[in-house]
Amino acid sequence: MRIVRDVAAVRAAVAGAGRIGLVPTMGAFHEGHLSLIRAARATCDLVVVWLFVNPTQFNDASDLVTYPRDEERDAALAAGCGADLLFAPTVDEVYPAGFATTVTVSGIADVLEGAHRPGHFAGVATVVAKMLNMVRPDVAFFGAKDAQQVAVVRRMVADLDLGVEIEVLPIVREADGLAMSSRNVRLGPEERRRATALHRGLEAARTAVTGGERDAGVLVRTVEDVLAAGAITAEYVAVVDPDSFAPVATITGRTLVALAARVGPVRLIDNLEVAP
Ligand code: AMP
Repeated sequence: MRIVRDVAAVRAAVAGAGRIGLVPTMGAFHEGHLSLIRAARATCDLVVVWLFVNPTQFNDASDLVTYPRDEERDAALAAGCGADLLFAPTVDEVYPAGFATTVTVSGIADVLEGAHRPGHFAGVATVVAKMLNMVRPDVAFFGAKDAQQVAVVRRMVADLDLGVEIEVLPIVREADGLAMSSRNVRLGPEERRRATALHRGLEAARTAVTGGERDAGVLVRTVEDVLAAGAITAEYVAVVDPDSFAPVATITGRTLVALAARVGPVRLIDNLEVAP
């Protein structure tokens, strides 16, 4: 696996390569990231892993400063999963002096994460557009953990005719259900235990739907009760359409239950699809 820093080197490496798969990441790899790299390896001729802690998508300065980084470890893990190229550009390579363009996606990007993290999705959409143009992959791999990010990226790709397939892989969880996240390493032992309430709350909502519950308001309270028992107050618990992120009042088909909550110093997100 080669490590490259600039767009000229990436373009040279992907030229004539056949089916090119791109795995966008911010590093600090866990099994969630590795599942994306393995999926790319299984279906593509050339696998490019993008590693860039994108400053413009952090609305909280301390989150950016404390974001875990370990490029050497990430490079070894990516190579172990069969990646061909680790593209780890500098901030100046991505945002050279004079950079002045922002991609904003309306609607989907304004609710939930968008409402609680002002500017976040403009940062995401802009860097993803830029990355897709730099690498020009046939397919890009994303995790269902960031379900709203997937919806925003799909909207942008369709609206701007970016001509890339989007593959979405399931959420990889710890044995106790906590969704893997690079930020989990910042949880203390007691916070780590309490954080399992996020997944338990979502599972309680799914159990309620299986038992016949169709009222989104009841599902939200079901999740909030489980969180409260773990001394966690959610930033939001929402029941939405998985594609448009429009609110759902009554469960009639595939529906996403999504939440965000602070556990100690760490802001975590999780989601689960439910269906009648
Ligand atoms: P990040 O490095 O956090 O920006 O994530 C890079 C990619 O990995 C995104 O597409 C995430 O949705 C995905 N990802 C993060 N955590 C998980 C997980 N637990 N399971 C599956 N995919 C994940």
